[in-house]
Amino acid sequence: MATLRLAERNIASCEVCTPDLAEIPFDYVLDIVTGSDPEETDYVMPEPAHCPNCNSPVLTGYWRWYTTEQGGRKVFVLPGTLVVLKQD
Ligand SMILES: [Zn+2]
Repeated sequence: MATLRLAERNIASCEVCTPDLAEIPFDYVLDIVTGSDPEETDYVMPEPAHCPNCNSPVLTGYWRWYTTEQGGRKVFVLPGTLVVLKQD
């Protein structure tokens, strides 16, 4: 998947190897690479990206609206891996 590889190339490190520096969600990196609207896009990846520094899997976040038993709407959020962008 070209988009995934492209996003991977924009990462310097991740929250596993540089927890004090990583503050950008990987989804945001994908948004930059694809130019997609973050409100509209969910990324389905056939394989995880990997941190070029420590080789840990780098995952996208996930969120879905769901309806509660009371009829309200709530959002379930699973945050993606935080990364450090590569400085050009
Ligand atoms: Zn890492």
